[in-house]
Amino acid sequence: MAESATIKATKDLLAKLVGFDTTSAMSNLDLIAFVQNYLDSRGVASTLVPSEDGQKASLYATIGDGKSGGIGLSGHSDCVPVEGQNWTSDPFTLTERDGKLYGRGTCDMKGFIACVLASVPLFKAQKLKEPVHIIVSYDEEVGCAGVRPLLERLGRDLLRPRAVIVGEPTSMGVIDAHKRIDVYRTTVTGKEAHSSLPALGVNAISCAAELIGELDRIAERIAMTENDQRFEPPYSTVSVGVIDGGTAPNIVPKTCTFRWQVRSLPSAPADEPPRALSAFAETALVPKMRKVAKDAGVETEGQTSVPAFTAAAQSDAVALAMALTGANRTRTVSYATEAGLFEQAGCPAVICGPGDIAQAHAADEFVSIAQLEGCLKFLDDLTGRLRA
Ligand SMILES: [Zn+2]
Repeated sequence: MAESATIKATKDLLAKLVGFDTTSAMSNLDLIAFVQNYLDSRGVASTLVPSEDGQKASLYATIGDGKSGGIGLSGHSDCVPVEGQNWTSDPFTLTERDGKLYGRGTCDMKGFIACVLASVPLFKAQKLKEPVHIIVSYDEEVGCAGVRPLLERLGRDLLRPRAVIVGEPTSMGVIDAHKRIDVYRTTVTGKEAHSSLPALGVNAISCAAELIGELDRIAERIAMTENDQRFEPPYSTVSVGVIDGGTAPNIVPKTCTFRWQVRSLPSAPADEPPRALSAFAETALVPKMRKVAKDAGVETEGQTSVPAFTAAAQSDAVALAMALTGANRTRTVSYATEAGLFEQAGCPAVICGPGDIAQAHAADEFVSIAQLEGCLKFLDDLTGRLRA
């Protein structure tokens, strides 16, 4: 492989990809059109799977004899916002400093997509005994929503890969499990009153405070009972993230909502925290609220959930990533990815990609050139294994 030519192509591609502001709230269609044109000009056809509103799309492309199986290389095109972050250089202009490439998404995970695209000529130059599939999704950062419609088409009009490498930043380590995420919103409905006569009202903020106190106790209980040393921390966690309630200091507030998150071990019952919270509300809180206001209450609804990922024993995907990286052990992470969804869709998955998760989502996000070179070598070795 002409190493220097490929790393130059990767940098050029990464500069293009970073130039598209694909914050999850924005359309990713310009980026997808660029990828589609790039593939098209190299003789690779692709299929787009649009979102319901047509503002976004995933892309699926197959290189090689597309009869069965093959290896999927999967990345998400969206990034987290830059608002409120202090960047040294423009986040949407790829900037090289000291062997590092700075820009939003460089690490999470346009660097991986750039490596895959730069390797297309290499894939094309070989007669592959099984195909390579390029998968680019959207809305990963907002509950892994975008990849789901594409997964529904696997085994129908899109080939189901026999193994999928999800190129999230792992510093090219091999990740075979991660926790599950569930996001909930709890709404407390009380009763408004003048603050000089608080006993006439039901203070929704005070009730929310009791519920949040209970959530902390639930979290402590879980921390004392669960223990899976493969994860850090070795138990499921519960955390409140957003609270909103009240209108003025002299009004007893009628409503208060808060949003909270559970990150569960793959083996833990994910619905345990919301059930425990409801039980507390029904026995300890709602009866006393209803003494003052009949329609007072507490309601919790699930907002998004991303399944845990546990690679199957003797997973093809894990074995492949270990062989390609030379790793002699696997690791786990506490962030969630699309890997659990691939696994559910019948595609053995593994997480392995360039860049350090510590730089993802942060100001001055970067991926080092050394990491990209490691990923290019990984893809080169993959090609070697797939050569007919
Ligand atoms: Zn990511």
